[in-house]
Amino acid sequence: MMLTERATIDSRNWRAGCMNEPDFATFARQIEHMQLLDGKLLSENIKSELAAEVDLLRERKGKIPHLAAVLVGENPASQVYVNSKIRSCEQIGFKSTLIRRPEDTSEPEVLDIIQSLNEDPDIDGFIVQLPLPKHINEEKVTLAIDHRKDVDGFHPVNFGRMAQGLPAFLPATPYGIVEMMRRYNIETSGKHCVVVGRSNIVGTPISILLSRKGYPGDCTVTLTHSRTKDLPAEVRRADIVVAAIGIPQFVKADWVKEGAVVIDVGINRIPDASKKSGARLVGDVDFDAVAPKCSYITPVPGGVGLMTVTALLMNTLKACKKEIYQ
Ligand code: NAD
Repeated sequence: MMLTERATIDSRNWRAGCMNEPDFATFARQIEHMQLLDGKLLSENIKSELAAEVDLLRERKGKIPHLAAVLVGENPASQVYVNSKIRSCEQIGFKSTLIRRPEDTSEPEVLDIIQSLNEDPDIDGFIVQLPLPKHINEEKVTLAIDHRKDVDGFHPVNFGRMAQGLPAFLPATPYGIVEMMRRYNIETSGKHCVVVGRSNIVGTPISILLSRKGYPGDCTVTLTHSRTKDLPAEVRRADIVVAAIGIPQFVKADWVKEGAVVIDVGINRIPDASKKSGARLVGDVDFDAVAPKCSYITPVPGGVGLMTVTALLMNTLKACKKEIYQ
């Protein structure tokens, strides 16, 4: 079964789990032409490919990719993200090391950890989970990471090389998005892409990647942000919308053109009394209202988030194979 066919079926099953029968029947009619960009299925496929490559590397070169993660403090979301990265490493046969430090760890102590990871020949790549406690300067930390081990792709050397179209570790979320577009054969050449949000880790780099020459790319990109005048009018012009704002269900149906591709990067927790935990995750797009208008859309959860973790694994394998830097 084709990835895209499977995605349509999955989108119905996925919604069916969230709606009662009559609601779901109406929704299913509306989404006849919509296909879900299934980050779960795709990341499982890619992880199987990575696991096969790990087997080959081990057999032929006696090497096993090794990712380290540094987690400072007790931020609950960061703990979930880091645990998911470590679990994914285990799943595909990578070695992983988690270095945990308490909230009051000093900046020099964090810089020392980075120095030792930079110098450790067994570590192929590492990440320092953001956000860091307020007393630690994130820019200093990012600059201290050896760019040859910077598998999060946040170091200015990697960012600059990416902008120039040179081989680089791409930032994990934008890398996950372009990989998703590639594998679903989403047409990008000559399309108008509107990115909402200009962060250094999502909005700005995805705007660069999609405007670069080649596939997926060759888009005409508009990068919008909190000072943009008439944001809905900008989004209405988009063939491809990338939403990375951090405001739950911010992008509305009447902002989105019929047939648009919508990539929802947001991960927001909102209260939901029907859930045992009292909350559920939603994206930056009002999914139920927007999905019927789209040709493709990513769900939250189950979309970009899983691809982000997978992109980190892809970067770590590249680091181990020295594909980008010697
Ligand atoms: P950020 O807070 O660093 O940046 C938000 C951007 O949104 C800013 O550039 C700001 O100008 C823009 N913005 C804010 N209010 C706006 C408004 N009213 N109109 C237009 N633009 C506005 O956010 P980020 O780190 O890029 O994260 C964005 C969202 O994506 C968050 O929900 C975050 O949790 C999520 N995220 C998800 C992943 C993933 O793997 N899926 C990865 C990173 C971030």
